[in-house]
Amino acid sequence: MAGTARNYELAEYIAKQWREYGLEDVKLIEHPVYLPWPVRYEATLADEKLSLKEEPIPEDKDSYATDVGIPYCAYSANVDVTAPVVYVNSGNPEDYDLLAQQGVDVRGKIALARYSVPYSYRGYKALTAEKRGAAALLLYSDPAEDGFKKGDVYPFGPWGPESHLQRGGIVYDFNLPGDPRTPGWASVPGGRFLPAESAVSMPTIAAAPMSYKDARKILEKMTGPTAPAAWQGGLPFRYRLGPTSDKLHLVIENDKKVRSIWNVVGRLRGNERPDEWVVLGNHRDAWVFGGVDPSSGSATLMETARAFGELKRTGWKPRRTLVFASWDAEEFTLTGSTEWGELEADKLKAGALAYLNVDSSASGNSFTAAAVPALAGFLREVAREVPDPSGGSIYDAWLRNTQTPQSKEPLVTTRLGSGSDYTVFLNFLGVPIADLTFDGPYGVYHSIYDSFTWVDRVGDPGYYYHAAMGRYWAVAALSLAECDYVPLDYAAYAREVQTYLDEAERSARERRMQLDFAAVREAARAWEKNGEAALSEARSGDRARVERAHRGLMKVERALLDEAGLAGRPWFKHLIYAPRPTYKALVLPALTEAIEAGDTTRARAELVRLTHALNRAATAIQF
Ligand SMILES: [Zn+2]
Repeated sequence: MAGTARNYELAEYIAKQWREYGLEDVKLIEHPVYLPWPVRYEATLADEKLSLKEEPIPEDKDSYATDVGIPYCAYSANVDVTAPVVYVNSGNPEDYDLLAQQGVDVRGKIALARYSVPYSYRGYKALTAEKRGAAALLLYSDPAEDGFKKGDVYPFGPWGPESHLQRGGIVYDFNLPGDPRTPGWASVPGGRFLPAESAVSMPTIAAAPMSYKDARKILEKMTGPTAPAAWQGGLPFRYRLGPTSDKLHLVIENDKKVRSIWNVVGRLRGNERPDEWVVLGNHRDAWVFGGVDPSSGSATLMETARAFGELKRTGWKPRRTLVFASWDAEEFTLTGSTEWGELEADKLKAGALAYLNVDSSASGNSFTAAAVPALAGFLREVAREVPDPSGGSIYDAWLRNTQTPQSKEPLVTTRLGSGSDYTVFLNFLGVPIADLTFDGPYGVYHSIYDSFTWVDRVGDPGYYYHAAMGRYWAVAALSLAECDYVPLDYAAYAREVQTYLDEAERSARERRMQLDFAAVREAARAWEKNGEAALSEARSGDRARVERAHRGLMKVERALLDEAGLAGRPWFKHLIYAPRPTYKALVLPALTEAIEAGDTTRARAELVRLTHALNRAATAIQF
């Protein structure tokens, strides 16, 4: 976990290994950040104290560890309350509306929400509970979501056993990631800091995670109306809305300390273009052991760095600089990457070609890539070059997994929300990003059972997918470091943005808002045309023209930022993508939010701002 002595030891270990591999300028970079740790978590139902502990499993020696700390939700407020509990299903606004219709009052009571699949960020559940006036929020793992209802549980399968619980941050980092005390600048020793409490990212509600082993005792005591069918979980009784017949005494206490976190950054300096950077990053901190999240990615990063070291030993030098980063405190609020991005903002804005993120590299065998639309074609090309452990290329396997009747190509997720370390690069700096993983059934996320043994027995026996990700990541990074021009396809990006404009226009029409999309569409079409032209210039073979195209292409993603940022969250500057509070992607965020609010005046202003951004993007590649 971030801030621990063991985490610091691992930072030193990584730095030592990287130096041995031959990486240059390897440094541990310190950031003092607001990083609360748990002090107390107790839940007593009538006279029964709930265990709030994960049970050891004989097959996994690490599950016997006693020094794993109190399970908690980072950035939870503190609470000591005795109140009845209400079942709020997934804890979304419509769930609270249903409770209100059924006459169940949540105010002043403890809300019990289940984690839900598809994934919705737990911080959104906290924000919703806070707005609805709950006294506190408990987040439990229902067996229907990630336990025995899905299949075999660990150690016999990938799903979560009875007492597993999912830790995690509840911080509102969809408003502001990174140290809440330094919005938009880096936290450095002796630097300038605002009070954490006043940050737009700080929850005022208390929350904590729970296993279904404990939550079932609460659920069994629910009175009131029967919950709707969609709210019924995997436990063998009828779920009711509540409140509970007995009160729960809940104590959650976290300290409010500033602690040092440590990014490890090393590089291979570019021989021809040292100021142009290709950045590879993965976080190092975990909630417990982090077998998959993030250590599968960290193992892959180490192997990738080692391979580049081997290449260097043959006398090879990259044309551009390769930067390797082991981020700290991602689990808290994307903290390490955000602080480093803010620290190196000028250099990254001037010279970063792309940021390639791998968080968990392998919880299974389904290749998944998220990226800006300009990188999608490049990621498919790379996939053709790398073998998949199942036979054939990653491209073949990826196509099989994501094929629909409409698609002839593997699917790159281009609607970008948040949830990992690429956020600062995309949303604050305007650097093209990709986020890569091999996915699979994985029910032990953020629990003690996300361990070495889980990966070894269940997730990736033989480590074939770890190795495949290493090859993929290395080929992608090497291609970008060596290319004559950065292979960014802005015609594809512009076409995609035109579909977002279709959606925005439709949604405005449904609300009977009078908005004129002519100018923004014209800008998008010019951008598309220039995107085509830039790639043919880049392929012209003429040195001067290739170079001019390359320099233009590097500026385009930056041009999509607007320094004023989004309403209420100025840190987020990208006008095509932002996260919703659920972490889901919000496309054309400033415009879409204005339309969703039914605010025609604001929507008109946002159309102008978006038109300017698209014109800037088009102009950057006008030849
Ligand atoms: Zn992670």
